[in-house]
Amino acid sequence: MARIVYVNGHYMDEQQATVSVFDRGFLFGDAVYEVTAVIDGKLWDLEDHLHRLRRSCAGLELDCPWSEDELREMHHTLVAKNQLREGVVYLQLSRGNAGDRDFSYADTAVPPTLVMFTQQKALVDTPKAREGLRMITRPDVRWQRRDLKTVSLLAASMALTEARRQGADDALLVENGMITEGTSSNVFIVTQDDTVITRPLGSGILPGTTRRLLLELIAHNNLHLSERVFTPEEARRAKEVFISSTTALIMSVVELDGCVIGSGAPGPVATALRNGLIRWIRHDE
Ligand code: PMP
Repeated sequence: MARIVYVNGHYMDEQQATVSVFDRGFLFGDAVYEVTAVIDGKLWDLEDHLHRLRRSCAGLELDCPWSEDELREMHHTLVAKNQLREGVVYLQLSRGNAGDRDFSYADTAVPPTLVMFTQQKALVDTPKAREGLRMITRPDVRWQRRDLKTVSLLAASMALTEARRQGADDALLVENGMITEGTSSNVFIVTQDDTVITRPLGSGILPGTTRRLLLELIAHNNLHLSERVFTPEEARRAKEVFISSTTALIMSVVELDGCVIGSGAPGPVATALRNGLIRWIRHDE
């Protein structure tokens, strides 16, 4: 079945979908995005994603003329048209086709470009979830507004590419000696005294939707949480390290920079939280 994608009000075969070469998303990375999980054919936590989309738009003075209801409806329509059971819906909103190339967006009064497509992908039952991830640390060379979910992802792409070249699965990013986040995930560690640590929100990291849910799950599981910064060394010495994201859900990191973490297999805290999250998703009506 050919994939049906959405471009500016129209659902069409992916072969027919085009965006102008003058689109500011293409020329300047002047665009925001969201990735929402689909599990058992149902969109998970869409409200949180729509909320963050508004927040990213506000941070960039980017107008989103579609209402929450319309965006919700478009997500559901795209899932139905593509008969998606498990995977993601990708949404990208750019400042649009300004007709020429101009750095300033002060006078850009053109309609934004909205593109949406589905990606089929196993999220729940994956080998990496069972085995855990091997990661390396890389310098965080991204910009200073990582709390906005923009498509300017080159620094993250470079870090991930370097990690893969070194035979690892992904990278954790480090700034001023402290871990910020993963290339596309938030990071947690479990200390030897069973405290779960994660970096506090701020402009240094993306406010992850999965991170938010995890904090609720951590409280629900009576685990002790501390939101503070931590070093790669602290992570390497931790009982457990795990990441959270829409596509990974929760995945253990079992090796960091060649050091085995804990027993070298997904630990009890990450496993309990991942199972708890999946139960939560499956029983959500
Ligand atoms: N940080 C970054 C840099 C990301 O790209 C992502 C994935 N969107 C996350 C964290 C996790 O966010 P979420 O849980 O909303 O997918």
